Amino acid sequence: MEELLSRTSALLARHPKRISAILATLLLTGTGFTFAVANLAPDASQLPVRSVSESLATPALVAQVEGLEALSMKLYRSDLTRATDTAETLLKRMGVFDPQAAAFLRSDALAQKNLLGRAGRAVSLEAGSDNALLKLQARWSPDEDGMFQRLSIEKTSTGFSSRIETLPLTASTRMASGTITSSLFAATDEARIPDSVSSQLAEIFSGDIDFHRALRKGDRFSVVYETLEGDGESLRAGRVLSTEFVNAGKTFQAMWFQEPEAANAGHAPRKGGYYTLAGESLKRAFLAAPLAFSRITSGFKMRFHPILQVWRAHLGVDYAAPVGTAVRSVGDGVVEFAGVQNGFGNVVKVKHQNQTSTVYAHLSRITVRMGQAVSQGQNVGLVGMTGWATGPHLHFEYRVNGVYQDPQTIARRNDTVPVTAAMKPLFDKAAAQARVALLAAGQTQLSSIE
Ligand SMILES: [Zn+2]
Repeated sequence: MEELLSRTSALLARHPKRISAILATLLLTGTGFTFAVANLAPDASQLPVRSVSESLATPALVAQVEGLEALSMKLYRSDLTRATDTAETLLKRMGVFDPQAAAFLRSDALAQKNLLGRAGRAVSLEAGSDNALLKLQARWSPDEDGMFQRLSIEKTSTGFSSRIETLPLTASTRMASGTITSSLFAATDEARIPDSVSSQLAEIFSGDIDFHRALRKGDRFSVVYETLEGDGESLRAGRVLSTEFVNAGKTFQAMWFQEPEAANAGHAPRKGGYYTLAGESLKRAFLAAPLAFSRITSGFKMRFHPILQVWRAHLGVDYAAPVGTAVRSVGDGVVEFAGVQNGFGNVVKVKHQNQTSTVYAHLSRITVRMGQAVSQGQNVGLVGMTGWATGPHLHFEYRVNGVYQDPQTIARRNDTVPVTAAMKPLFDKAAAQARVALLAAGQTQLSSIE
């Protein structure tokens, strides 16, 4: 008993960051700012240990240990289904040997339709000490309707039975952080961040950072995001609530903010958006890149050399991407030209405000017409290799008064719109919470390294 307590105490002393992360989680779940700060003040590592030593009498501990031993007779496993799964491979991977259960999975209509050959479904099972299946459950969320499906297969006195239920998802908050060593997706994989969250990160900072070209080894990020869970299992990633990105030594921060319903008396509810923690909108007149950042485009390397010798006046930025990748207009404007031009191949030129224009070349397909109005982010065509190109890529140009400019500089030069004066007090309160959440998120990586 004494030894157990001293070991627990030592463990807590060695991992203070984990404790601060737990407290920050409490804060995020809405317990309130003052409460969490008050609890952070005393030596937090001592508090839980004392309460344990007073409430746990020895008989209770013995009962618990016995309970644990009884539990260890059962086997609990969880994993994700794979597209190549058969009844046998799935059970084997999860440590179960049970020909009867495998036969049931093969013949049961619900299991056939919803489990076998379906990739990425969260599956958990319970087996006896003889490695025979007692219960198997699979969970997934097919639609954005706030619900999830649960398939349950259970052993009964007469064999196995299966049933499917539709249940509500519960919202929760997660935080993570990472450091870029090779690519953004390698770092987010490491931090177990879902792809949809990584893409959101790139979109949120798309006015400031060109994720295709400007990432540096050693860049760091922290993120706090919503997750939708079924039976405690994360089944769907939601919106990024706050995030920080350190690119080449420069720190960018963002948080989601939306006017609460009650506050917008007299006008229609405003759409939410991302702001700096100082209250500046991150929405810019121009995006930094004409391609959305994705796992596919980020991993697609230039395997060719643009024909520079032939095309001496090459002034632009080349983005390597697979043929068919969507190309988007970086700003609102009107299509000035859409058609074929010598070295450009299929090309779209968009005229924006203030004598600025953008060029999208080598397209495999053009999806707009001359004279058409386009909005920021709207698709204008697909990546190709028409014209003078030896491999699939997008040639992108930014021109002011017909003269080429560096897209990065242009994107950052835009003025931003601040949050309204009436909303500022409410915003500042939310920003203070976001700041604490980001600090805690930044420590998640340190904790896992410990
Ligand atoms: Zn080019």
